[in-house]
Amino acid sequence: MPIRDKIRANVRRIAAQLVEHGHEAYLVGGAVRDLLLGIEPKDYDIATSASPEEVREVFTRRRTRIIGRRFRLAHVYDRGEVYEVSTFRREPTAEERCGRDGDDGVMLWRDNVYGTLEEDAQRRDFTVNALYYDMVGDRGIIDFVGGVGDLENRRVRAIGDTAMRMAEDPVRMLRALKLVGLFGFTPEPVLAAAVRELGERIRLASPNRLFEELLKIMGNPRGDAILAAFQEYGFLHWLWPRAAAIWDTADGELMRGLLAERGRRMAANPNYPASKALLLATLMLAPLRAELGGGDGDEGDGDDGEGLWDYQPGLEHVCRNLVHEFMEPFPISRFLSSRARDICMLLPRFLGSGKRSRMARHPEYPYGCELFSLWLATRGESQDILDDWPSANSRSPHPPRGRRSRPPRRPAGDPACARSPEERP
Ligand code: ATP
Ligand code: MG
Repeated sequence: MPIRDKIRANVRRIAAQLVEHGHEAYLVGGAVRDLLLGIEPKDYDIATSASPEEVREVFTRRRTRIIGRRFRLAHVYDRGEVYEVSTFRREPTAEERCGRDGDDGVMLWRDNVYGTLEEDAQRRDFTVNALYYDMVGDRGIIDFVGGVGDLENRRVRAIGDTAMRMAEDPVRMLRALKLVGLFGFTPEPVLAAAVRELGERIRLASPNRLFEELLKIMGNPRGDAILAAFQEYGFLHWLWPRAAAIWDTADGELMRGLLAERGRRMAANPNYPASKALLLATLMLAPLRAELGGGDGDEGDGDDGEGLWDYQPGLEHVCRNLVHEFMEPFPISRFLSSRARDICMLLPRFLGSGKRSRMARHPEYPYGCELFSLWLATRGESQDILDDWPSANSRSPHPPRGRRSRPPRRPAGDPACARSPEERP
């Protein structure tokens, strides 16, 4: 099938409307890369010669929202979907770089200087992300930077001076390693060296932005492979020191195993719950187990041989603090850490003799069920034990506030959790 036919009709319609009004408009970035790799893009970005205000003139105020400070762009709404339409930009000159107090003169804080299509390609991060596709005219793929060749050779190459581009926006290092983990690409030696040398600069990025990135990474079925790439290039230590510290231990192995199993379920089931609390609980289980007991699961090491801690009064408090410590430097709300803790705390109860019907009324029971199922699968144990537990369909953890609940979604793998409810937004 030609590339054009694989592109969502809304996206083509938006580009056609911009062109009709005398502007240029192309598909750009990850969507072009993914289409050339034969993967369905998860989002579509459009690059245009129109300024955000001109985009709003074309699509009217009702359908357009101008967003961003560091990077202004237009969101265009089309039949319930929203698409990012960004204006061609060029690299700002030294004077145009808008610094701020405490600036080291290298970091790029704003990127709002408009330019031509070719200038726009030059200011993008990697060659494989700087390809354009002409959805309206007949120019096909437009490649100013050798991105097609790099895609064929599965290579990540920065555009411009590699070290400079990584230093001015350290999130680019994270983006490079995402490509490495996700697609098995190889970074150019100069890029790998820059990541090793400048990795620490990721700490200059906003913790909120980094937490969003981490959530996006872990929302990908290959999240475990991306984290592995971070670790391989010495980057995880700067991004998330505690995860890096346990990486090569038995707990690290368990954490990676749980994430890999979760990834398999996500890949098999597009409706796998996109719950931040469940994700956090999945990440936390191994470090919690290390701290609270459970050892390596060997008989005779003092635990019950099942590899989980015993309940003791006051454990909730300790456990929530551990969630916070482990997730440093990311800003986690108390609400989210309490939920992750509650999910984890349910696990030993699946192995105990407490009242099942009572536990099934716990608001996090469906996610507790799913985490327990992941735990069993990671240990290569049968899921049969879950057959004896009430189905998780019956209740929904924290239904969305102020919105009617959507129908429950179906997580993979575990029959007892056959219809885990959806997460609040
Ligand atoms: P994904 O599949 O995760 O959406 P993507 O490459 O499309 O991957 P986006 O965050 O959607 O990532 O960004 C769209 C495009 O914007 C990128 O492909 C790249 O060309 C450009 N871009 C994004 N972040 C940066 C950055 N920090 N520096 C330079 N260019 C960037
Ligand atoms: Mg994208």
